[in-house]
Amino acid sequence: EELRRLAMRDPMTGCLNRRAFFDTAAEMVAEAAKGGGDICCIMTDIDHFKGFNDLYGHLVGDQVIQVVAKTLGGSIRNGDMLCRYGGEEFCILLPNTKVADACTVAERARASIEATASSSIRSVQVRKITSSFGVSCISDGAANLQELIDQADQALYASKEAGRNRVTIWTAETHHA
Ligand code: GH3
Ligand code: MG
Ligand code: MG
Repeated sequence: EELRRLAMRDPMTGCLNRRAFFDTAAEMVAEAAKGGGDICCIMTDIDHFKGFNDLYGHLVGDQVIQVVAKTLGGSIRNGDMLCRYGGEEFCILLPNTKVADACTVAERARASIEATASSSIRSVQVRKITSSFGVSCISDGAANLQELIDQADQALYASKEAGRNRVTIWTAETHHA
């Protein structure tokens, strides 16, 4: 059981790894897409992360990733899935959640990272840690997990473009799907 658990997790953060996430999440999204209820996706990417590595070294960079993962984990409910999607990118799947509630979760996580993450790093005083967010919901027409993730990613990109450290919701109107 312990080996199975380890195989599903990213060792650095304890988040689900991509494979474990896709294994479970793809089916949940397929069910929801067939009319099985609301399901939302949040993508987040740490702002100017490369600067932390460059200024303070990779060890501190790793700590930044860890503290953001921990804050995200503290912002979600039992049953939500948190995945380390890439180096400093995370994907959260929220089953049975309406888009307004997913936005509340994203906004709470964003504010919490901004308020507390950098002071959690003890080894050196780092500059403020922030992260940009994108939110998508199955009710906006995604047919599967990959499309839902792509929409959240587009919204995340819009958050970066608009100045970072913010939450953007994907809509067909704003993203011309
Ligand atoms: P943006 O606000 O646009 O997201 O800028 P950014 O600097 O965060 O984006 P960019 O993609 O240029 O930089 C991400 C960096 O993250 C590049 C890579 O070297 C670093 N990285 C990826 N994985 C890890 C990791 O596990 N540990 C550390 N320390 N760095 C990592
Ligand atoms: Mg990135
Ligand atoms: Mg980044």
